[in-house]
Amino acid sequence: MRHLVIVVGAGPAALYATGKIAAKGHTVVILNRDIKPGGLAEYGIYLSKHKMKEGLRKQFRQILADPRIIYFGGVTVGDAGAIRLSELQDLKPNAIVVGAGAQGTKSLGVPGDDGPNVYHAKDLVYHYNLLPPFSQREFPMGNRVAIIGIGNVMADIANYLVTIRKVPEVIAVARRGPVERKYDDREMRPIAWHIDKEALKQELERIRPRLGPLGQDMDVQFKELTKDCHVEPKAGRGPTRIKFRFLASPKAIIRDETGRMVGMEVEENTLEERRGQLSAKGLGETTILPVDTVIFAIGDVVDLDLGLAPAKGAWGYSTNPKPDPGDPETAAYQAYDPKAEQLLDGVFVIGWSRNASEGVVGIARLDGEKGAAVVNRYLAQRPGFSRREIYRRIGTIYHHLRKRTVPVVHKGLWRILERVEREEASKRGLEEFKYGTNDEMLQRIEESIVRRP
Ligand SMILES: Cc1cc2nc3c(=O)[nH]c(=O)nc-3n(C[C@H](O)[C@H](O)[C@H](O)COP(=O)(O)OP(=O)(O)OC[C@H]3O[C@@H](n4cnc5c(N)ncnc54)[C@H](O)[C@@H]3O)c2cc1C
Repeated sequence: MRHLVIVVGAGPAALYATGKIAAKGHTVVILNRDIKPGGLAEYGIYLSKHKMKEGLRKQFRQILADPRIIYFGGVTVGDAGAIRLSELQDLKPNAIVVGAGAQGTKSLGVPGDDGPNVYHAKDLVYHYNLLPPFSQREFPMGNRVAIIGIGNVMADIANYLVTIRKVPEVIAVARRGPVERKYDDREMRPIAWHIDKEALKQELERIRPRLGPLGQDMDVQFKELTKDCHVEPKAGRGPTRIKFRFLASPKAIIRDETGRMVGMEVEENTLEERRGQLSAKGLGETTILPVDTVIFAIGDVVDLDLGLAPAKGAWGYSTNPKPDPGDPETAAYQAYDPKAEQLLDGVFVIGWSRNASEGVVGIARLDGEKGAAVVNRYLAQRPGFSRREIYRRIGTIYHHLRKRTVPVVHKGLWRILERVEREEASKRGLEEFKYGTNDEMLQRIEESIVRRP
């Protein structure tokens, strides 16, 4: 007997999980919001990392080549999507695995942050990586752009602002100090030449009295932060100066009477030890930073529209809060309904859907594969379906989507799109080429079918 598993999403977590589930002989149907698989590996990883992206695409192609895996791209699961999670549950597959990443945006909720020139990092990342519909949205930038958060996503956004938008000034704003920065130095290296060393020196002098007593040496930090400043940027020197503002928490976006942003009010912080780590503590004193654009790069949260409840006090979906002491690992992947206080039998969550914004592709892969092992153990204890019954259920999903006029992009069509984009890249002499709207992608696929019967 085989089992039928529906996987929601086709990012790294979902794809690696799918590979492990299909390897056990089960049939997997993937429903993916984007026409193309890959998730943030396709639409998040920075533009210049062609080799890494292509390496991942190669692995994803290999996984998807398995005939036991059925891929439906362009299909959003959710209350406003093409099919609801509850409708998938009604089909009674043997399991549903949600690997839809963290598609919601986190907000600090400061006054004025709902007006123009305030952006969420993921939206901008999706924009420059050409994910529809973000690819079509305008993201006007001013001359002084503050990025809130100081992790690797900040480094990517700064890279984009430096090399593509050529913004004059980028300010990375951190709640804590330079020691607590979250970015890996190698992510900043391509743009480290643009760090304004004089401004950094002054900033470190400004915070020295607050951090010195904690044993943090600002001279050491200056050396650390500037160690790659001599590296000639591969993308060429540009006009941007990168600055840092430490120990600052945004309190309000300041706008003039026309609604134009004229600054961001920040509260000065100090650091204090809480539960073994240094946390920011507001000093009640505020300053206005003269910025005209603000980008929040503070992580993401799961999408509430998908049909699962968020975990209390966390950014992922809720999972079983009462693990079996003999098998605590399983509980971490079992979806849970906190309102009904019960498990959603046969529904599992993996990757950033479980632990939003947590780690690189390797971590998402590990999480997907661990989740797949839990799913495989679950399936091993349950009866499956006949081949005929499995295909009847897959047919039901397909007909449901067609009825809702969703243009489902199956594996064969996605392969055509890949080929068309490769041909376009070589025609234009580019490393890669992407169509930025679903309509263009679908049209090119159709034209290609008509041309090559
Ligand atoms: C800006 C940025 C840069 C990064 N750079 C790197 C890097 O250089 N190297 C590295 O190793 N890692 C990088 N990462 C981290 C890496 O991208 C993640 O670890 C990984 O992609 C998370 O995988 P996931 O499958 O959980 O989620 P995602 O990659 O987000 O995949 C989610 C998938 O679910 C689909 N989906 C979403 N909602 C629905 C829905 N309602 N219905 C159906 N499908 C849905 C999406 O279309 C997508 O295919 C970066 C992350 C970001 C944000």
